[in-house]
Amino acid sequence: MNNLSQVGQFCPNEYCALYGEIEAAQIIRFGKTRNGTQRYRCKDCGQTFTQTHGTLFYRRQASRETILETLALLAEGVRISSIARAKGIKADTILAWLRSAARQAEDVEAVLLKDYRISQAQLDGLWTYVGHKGHKGGTLNSTSAASFGAAP
Ligand SMILES: [Zn+2]
Repeated sequence: MNNLSQVGQFCPNEYCALYGEIEAAQIIRFGKTRNGTQRYRCKDCGQTFTQTHGTLFYRRQASRETILETLALLAEGVRISSIARAKGIKADTILAWLRSAARQAEDVEAVLLKDYRISQAQLDGLWTYVGHKGHKGGTLNSTSAASFGAAP
C-alpha cells in the first residue's frame, strides 16, 4: 500500500513559499465544505483549499494507473513524444504530471520502485526532465535551490 492518493496538504498557490511543501506546519484545518470535505488554509498566503487539492491525481482526466504507467515509461527512458503518440496524451499533459509528481517525489518514487519495478537510477533520470533531484537529492549535496520557489 502507499499513501500517494492521500497526500496533498500543501499550499496550492505556486507563488507561496510553502508551495509544494507537503504537510507544512503552516497548513491548518479550516472548516469543511458543504459536502463535508476537509478544508485547509495556508497561514503564509491565506489560500484555502480542500484536502485533495494539488495531489497528483486531483482533477486529472486520466486514471491513477495511466499517470503512474506514463511516469514509469518515462523513467525507463521512453521519450515523451513517443508516449504522447502511443497513448494519445498531449506532451504538455505528460510534463504537467511529471511536475506534479516531482512535488511529491518521495511517494511517487515509492510506488514506482515497488509496483513498477523502476530502479533508483531510472528515477533519477526521470526527475531530470523537470530539473528536480527527487527526494534523495533534497539534502545538502545539492546546489540546486531551484527546485523550490525560484521559478518565476
Ligand atoms: Zn500558501
